[in-house]
Amino acid sequence: MCNTERQLNEQSRKSQVTNHKSRTNDNELLSLVIVGHVDHGKSTILGRLLADTGSLPEGKLDFVREQCRRNSKPFEYAFLLDALKDEQSQGITIDAARCFFKTKKRDYIILDAPGHIEFLKNMVTGASRAEAALLVIDAVEGVRENSRRHGYLLSMLGIRQVAVVVNKMDLVNWDEKIFRDIEVEYSEFLKKIGVIATAFIPVSGREGDNVAVSSRNMSWYSGQTVLNQLDAFSASQPPKNKPFRMPVQAVYKFTAKGDDRRIVAGTVESGHLSIGDEVVFYPSGKRSRVKTVEAFNRDPLPDSTAAGCAAGFTLEEQIYVRRGEIAAKEGESVPKVGRRLRVNLFWLGKTPFVTGKDYLLKLGTSKVRMRLSEVERVIDASTLEPVKRDDIKRHDVAECVLELERAVAFDAAADIQQTGRFVIVDDYEIRGGGIVLGALSDRTEDVREKVFLRNYKWERSRIPRDLRAEKLNQRPALILITGEKDSGKKPLAKALENELFATGRMVYFLGIGNLLYGVDADLKEQSKNFREEHIRRLSEVAHLMLDAGVILIVTAIEVNRADLRIMEAVLNTFEVHTVWIGEEVKTDIPVEIHLTEPGPESGAAKIKRYLQDVGVIFKP
Ligand code: GDP
Repeated sequence: MCNTERQLNEQSRKSQVTNHKSRTNDNELLSLVIVGHVDHGKSTILGRLLADTGSLPEGKLDFVREQCRRNSKPFEYAFLLDALKDEQSQGITIDAARCFFKTKKRDYIILDAPGHIEFLKNMVTGASRAEAALLVIDAVEGVRENSRRHGYLLSMLGIRQVAVVVNKMDLVNWDEKIFRDIEVEYSEFLKKIGVIATAFIPVSGREGDNVAVSSRNMSWYSGQTVLNQLDAFSASQPPKNKPFRMPVQAVYKFTAKGDDRRIVAGTVESGHLSIGDEVVFYPSGKRSRVKTVEAFNRDPLPDSTAAGCAAGFTLEEQIYVRRGEIAAKEGESVPKVGRRLRVNLFWLGKTPFVTGKDYLLKLGTSKVRMRLSEVERVIDASTLEPVKRDDIKRHDVAECVLELERAVAFDAAADIQQTGRFVIVDDYEIRGGGIVLGALSDRTEDVREKVFLRNYKWERSRIPRDLRAEKLNQRPALILITGEKDSGKKPLAKALENELFATGRMVYFLGIGNLLYGVDADLKEQSKNFREEHIRRLSEVAHLMLDAGVILIVTAIEVNRADLRIMEAVLNTFEVHTVWIGEEVKTDIPVEIHLTEPGPESGAAKIKRYLQDVGVIFKP
């Protein structure tokens, strides 16, 4: 177990209600989720499990019984959970989202997933990931929509260990036929979505039959109790034998003077990494060798790290990567990179998922704007019937294509689950989530491949970017001035170059036309990809100049999103600032400065002030 994993468990342990019988050992831990239609008995079964395994705080059961008696209401096992939650909300524990109990064999964390959204969020963000599930079905009501939807979610998120608990058997006279009918009906449903239930167990949460103790009322049943079934599940190990993947969470700079190393930090999702290994970052293609592996409070530092650990490492050479990239290991299978993803998703938003609207996609540590591009197939998650429509409504499951604002790295969920899951956010709320099936080709693919190779092969200077910036008193940046034809772009660019030069800046104005007869001499204006290639070359030239520390001013007519996408792919971590000149902004790119006044001098002064504000220019 890695240090941080141990710390997390320790934290979880401490965060249990204090006088819970706590985890005092290094017992195996299995995380479990209980799902099912509302009122089918999830809380009752959980309360029973806690009570019958002696996991409740001392005196809690009597206290709740007594309270019920005093208020003349019948005792319910579900109240035990409410009582625990009350205690949690009074600050006795910091972690209200989980609940613990233990058996002789091992310890369990029950993830609190009151609804689909919490469940998706937990599973995708990695806050807590269930390894097994109990799916509760009411014997009286039988299989309901949510019984099926939850089943679908479990299958989509790759939870293969599922025990189906048919509850409230006391209300159907312990009738075997009712149980078997549900078993047949629900097994058929599960089969269609590729899940084989580990067991079907008839229980009564209220009476305790077959929860922790075998039922005397159902002698016809010879299978396991719920508790024994839980112990029969296997605890999954983090995927240490798969290729190394670590989504970059943050890049920290050492603050000690003269130390320009950076720690690349994140959680290792799969595989392992040791000092001396060569890491390659995707999508950028930047690479270097691991110099040290860092860890919290570890002395001496470890020389390797593996799946399941929060980790950090430093590199032999300083490279610039950002949050959202995925670190992989040279020589192992590589992550995919794409801007058009084929996915299988589950929609939970009240308003449908539609084309033509911006959403946010979160995959690993990357966050990117996206749109629904094509809907291939929609099915109702409860009936599994195909539905014919172009938007995706609440509780629909759909195979569709998402188009992202920029390319991200990921894996097909079938290869590596952890880096193949995503959620979709709208208006700060999770509205849906799912798994990636694969990437489709897109228009910036060629450019990306070239950039990847360029970065991969890049010969790095010994002068770090920061040092160069300090010396020149400026950060390198591309100032992109765009607008309609004859709107005054060039006079403005020249005035800005003048103004910055006069105050000692290293600045250069590059009219886009200046490339046409030189760098672009072999390009035919009639050829299909002329504009793309022209922009790519311009961006490569800009990349070189920015790498040299220059503030580069470029003018181009009506730059659009597709152009900017290429520029950003080529320029990578370098900054681009956009200026639109003209009365009305007629572009689909985000514009940082909009100039309407005619004078180039005043426009240049305004841009200069902006550059000071954003820290491109350090001193006035
Ligand atoms: P949840 O919404 O799935 O968490 O369901 P609860 O655990 O709150 O149970 C809903 C209702 O069903 C409560 O009134 C329980 O008392 C009742 N209930 C739960 N399990 C049983 C059972 O095994 N037998 C009977 N008769 N009632 C039960």
